[in-house]
Amino acid sequence: MINFQYSRASDVADAVRQMAADPTARFIAGGTNLIDLMKVYVERPSRLIDISRLPLKSVEETKEGGLRIGALVPNSDLAYHPLVEKRYPLLGSAILAGASQQLRNMASTGGNLLQRTRCAYFYDTATPCNKRQPGSGCSALAGHNRMHAILGASEACIAAHPSDMCVALAALDAKVHVTGPSGERTIAFLDFHRLPEDTPQVETNLKPGEIVTAVELPAPGFAANYSYLKIRDRLSYAFALVSIAVGLQLEGGRIKEARLALGSVAHKPWRDTAAEAGLRGQAPNRATFARAAEQLLRDAKGYGHNDFKIELARRGIVRALTQAAQGTPQSQSNKKVL
Ligand SMILES: Cc1cc2nc3c(=O)[nH]c(=O)nc-3n(C[C@H](O)[C@H](O)[C@H](O)COP(=O)(O)OP(=O)(O)OC[C@H]3O[C@@H](n4cnc5c(N)ncnc54)[C@H](O)[C@@H]3O)c2cc1C
Ligand code: SF4
Repeated sequence: MINFQYSRASDVADAVRQMAADPTARFIAGGTNLIDLMKVYVERPSRLIDISRLPLKSVEETKEGGLRIGALVPNSDLAYHPLVEKRYPLLGSAILAGASQQLRNMASTGGNLLQRTRCAYFYDTATPCNKRQPGSGCSALAGHNRMHAILGASEACIAAHPSDMCVALAALDAKVHVTGPSGERTIAFLDFHRLPEDTPQVETNLKPGEIVTAVELPAPGFAANYSYLKIRDRLSYAFALVSIAVGLQLEGGRIKEARLALGSVAHKPWRDTAAEAGLRGQAPNRATFARAAEQLLRDAKGYGHNDFKIELARRGIVRALTQAAQGTPQSQSNKKVL
């Protein structure tokens, strides 16, 4: 039994104040990840600051033509929001590829960003894990690492970020709005999560005490030519081995703009702007897509059990780009579940 205090934040400023007063506290939103981690003693917060009733549940158009998504918008509501269905189907598809309907009903936008890795050793307090206990070692390096990273890993940690939604947000060039003891600021989505380097326990560039208040999408939604391809061990209710988010803008038989991000291959959603640049101006064909895959995976490295993910990612990238170019996205699951 873990003893902890529970309090409810009355507004964002109160949440920030409460966190500043007790830095070992944790915000709780949907609780779908945090409570699981508490049950296995990985998270042992002194206090839970309940933010679930804060007024951060709206989806609003921005004056720049984008969308501002409150941090407490449930994943289901977001996927089925009419503006997301119409303008950002890549985001809706990615969300609906994750977890289950029940979990998506509880899971929040902010919580999805901050969910922890699914590395089994991280959950098992009987094994060394630098992320859970810095300096203790990484059991996955020479252990069971089938689900682990092939890009951007370090000797300290080879864990992968498991989110689906975040892969689409990376491809869509989102921004994260946060509030903390020093006020409000905005973080580019690509700078929000960190690579493990020597400090895998530090997973984001949030400063102590900061709360995520919203995620903002710019106007381009790539609604005509997109694909979210999630490759996993079974058809539903499984984390990705590799996932690929693609958005293309085609003009005159050429690629005018390209977005390409991968999930479950690195400690953060992996977007490669050099591979995207290589796609621009090219004809949307198999040779172009194979080149982009080569470029994106140029530094990929397996750790034994996960070597297969390199070839899986290569083929997945070509397939997702092909589906996007043809206007036939893999998952058109952006339909209401009856
Ligand atoms: C069985 C199962 C299967 C799943 N499958 C998938 C899947 O296939 N794909 C996928 O993407 N996800 C999957 N998930 C993960 C799920 O999407 C996350 O658990 C969920 O998004 C977390 O949101 P939450 O609101 O419940 O977060 P919580 O559990 O409440 O919080 C998670 C973390 O975020 C912090 N936090 C929450 N909100 C904020 C905020 N606004 N500001 C600052 N910090 C905050 C909390 O302090 C905590 O550290 C699965 C989960 C489960 C349990
Ligand atoms: S991969 Fe990271 S999370 Fe997994 S055991 Fe190693 S240090 Fe821990």
